[in-house]
Amino acid sequence: MSKLLRPLSALALVCLLAACQTPTSPPMSSSPEGFAQTAERLVLAGLDRSPEASISAGRYDRAGEVTLPDAASRAADLAFAEAGLATLARFDPTTLPPAQRIDHGLLKNRFESTRWQLQTFREWAWNPARYSVAGPIGLLLNTPYAPEAERLRAVSSRLARVPAYYAAARGNIDNPTPEHRELALTQSRGALTLLGPALRTRVAGSALSPAEQAEFITRLDAARAAIESWQAWLGTVAAQRPFRIGAELYEQKFRFDVQSPLTAAQLYDRAAAEKERLHADMDLRTRELWPRYLAGQPMPDDRLERIGRMVAHLSQQHVPREQFVAEIRRQIPLLAEFVRRKNLLEQDETRPLVVRETPPYMRGGGAIASISAPGPFNPTANTYYNVTPLDDFSAEAAASLLREYNHWVLQILNIHEAIPGHYTQLLHANKAPSLAKTLLRNGAMVEGWAVYAERMMLEQGWGDQAPEMWLMYGKWNLRVVTNAMLDIAIHTRGMTEAQAMDLMQREAFQEPAEAANKWRRARLSQVQLTTYFSGYADILDLRARRQAQLGTAFDLKTFHDQFLSVGSAPVRAIGDLMTGAARP
Ligand code: ZN
Repeated sequence: MSKLLRPLSALALVCLLAACQTPTSPPMSSSPEGFAQTAERLVLAGLDRSPEASISAGRYDRAGEVTLPDAASRAADLAFAEAGLATLARFDPTTLPPAQRIDHGLLKNRFESTRWQLQTFREWAWNPARYSVAGPIGLLLNTPYAPEAERLRAVSSRLARVPAYYAAARGNIDNPTPEHRELALTQSRGALTLLGPALRTRVAGSALSPAEQAEFITRLDAARAAIESWQAWLGTVAAQRPFRIGAELYEQKFRFDVQSPLTAAQLYDRAAAEKERLHADMDLRTRELWPRYLAGQPMPDDRLERIGRMVAHLSQQHVPREQFVAEIRRQIPLLAEFVRRKNLLEQDETRPLVVRETPPYMRGGGAIASISAPGPFNPTANTYYNVTPLDDFSAEAAASLLREYNHWVLQILNIHEAIPGHYTQLLHANKAPSLAKTLLRNGAMVEGWAVYAERMMLEQGWGDQAPEMWLMYGKWNLRVVTNAMLDIAIHTRGMTEAQAMDLMQREAFQEPAEAANKWRRARLSQVQLTTYFSGYADILDLRARRQAQLGTAFDLKTFHDQFLSVGSAPVRAIGDLMTGAARP
C-alpha cells in the first residue's frame, strides 16, 4: 500500500530533530525546505488523527480504530487547528516559492474552516446524517487492499465501537432539521443492509478462525441493535430547525469551501446573466434548426417553449442501450487525438485511462459515469473511467437516460469526465505531487476545469460548430448555471419549492425526476452545488485576464499547461501565480 509513507515519516522526524538541535537558527525561518516539510507533517498529522480520513485517502494502518464523535474529540480537533494555525504563522507566505505559498493558503483555510465548523456552523449539533458508521466499513469490505481476513478483522474491531459511537452522536444532536433527520434515517437503513445477512455469509466463508467469527457475529449483533435504537431515538426527537442557513453563514461557508474572488451574491448575478446568455444562444440555434427537423410544425411564440421542443426532438438521437459502454470506449482516443491535433495541452501517454464497467459495489449512487483516481498513497495505480452499463435498468429508465445522454451530450460527458476534463487534470496535478493539494484539493477548481473543458473543446471545433451540438451544450451547461442559482437562492433568498421547480424544469429543461432530486439535494447541502459554476466562471475570468495581459503573445496551450501544473488549488490562487498578482 503506502510506499510513500515511510520516507515521509522519516523526513518529518529529521525536520523535528533538526529544529531541536539548531537553536542558533532564527525562529522565524521561512526557508522553502523548512516549509515543505512542515506542510507535509501537518497534513500527515491531520490524517493520523482520523482513521476514517486515512481510510478514505487509502491508508489502512489504523483501519480498526474509530473516532468517537464526542466533545473530547471536538476539543482535540479545535486544539489541532489552533496549533496548526500557530505553526503556519511562523512562515511568511510571501517569501515562499509559489507552490508552497499555495499549500500554506490551503492549510490555513482548512484550519480556519475547521474552527468555524466547530464553533460557528456547528453542523455536528444539527445534522444527524453526518453520523454514520457505514462509510469506512463499506470501503474496508469493498477495497481489496489486503487479504480478506485482515480486512474483516479491521471491520470487526470497528463494529465493537458502534454502540459507543451512536451514544456519542445522540449526545450531540439538539433540534436537527427535519430534512437531515430523514436522511439520517435513510442512511441508517442502508447501514443495516451493509451489516446484513450477506456479511454474515461472507464471514462464515472467510479465513477467520471460529473464535474470530463468533466474536465478529457478537459485535455485529450489538452494532445492529445500536443502529436500530439510534433509528428509534431519531424518530422521536424534535426536529424544527430550518434547513435554510441564511445569507451570513452561507457567505462564510462559500468563502471557506470555494475560495473564489467573488461573493456568493456576486456569483448569483453572474449565473443569472449566464442563463440569459444561454437562452438567447439556444434560441438562435433552435430557429436555425427548426426547418431541418420540425418543418411544417408551427414554432411556439414562447422562447423557452420552442427551445424545449427542439431539445426534446434531438434527444431522441442516441446510441442503442447495449452499445452505451462501447460508444464511450470508442470516443476516448478520438478526444485525445483532437487535443493533440489542435495543440490544446500536454497529454501523458504513459498513463492511459482505463474504461471499465462500474464495479457493482460502486453502483446505485446515481452517477452513470465517474473517474476513479489513484490516491496519494498509491500513485502508480490505474485511473479508471467507470461507466455503468444499462443492463439492470428498466426499459423506461434506460430510455430516459439515453435521451439525457443523447448523441451530443454523451460526447460532452466524455470531455467532462475524461479528456481533457477530470482525467487530464488529475494527471497534470500528479506531476507536482503535494499532499496538501491532493488531500485538501479545491473542488471548485476540479469541477470548474471539467466544465471549462466542455466549452473550450466546442470553441476549438469539437462537434464542427454544429448548431445541434451548441444547443445541447446549452441545455447541459444550464444545469451547472441553475445549480448555483438554486443553492444560493434557496439558502439565502427564501426560494420556494415551486420557484425552484420552475427554474429547473421550465428554464433549464430538466425532467421532473431530476428536478425533484435536486430540490432534495439543495436542502441537504450548502455551497457544494455552486462549485461547478464558480470554478468555471473563475477560470473563464482568468483566461480573459491572461489574454488581456499578454495580447498577441497569449497561447492557449501554454495557458492550459501553466494552469494545470499548479495542481488542484483554488483558481484564485493559481491566477495570482500566473498573473504575478500579490495577495496578502
Ligand atoms: Zn465532474
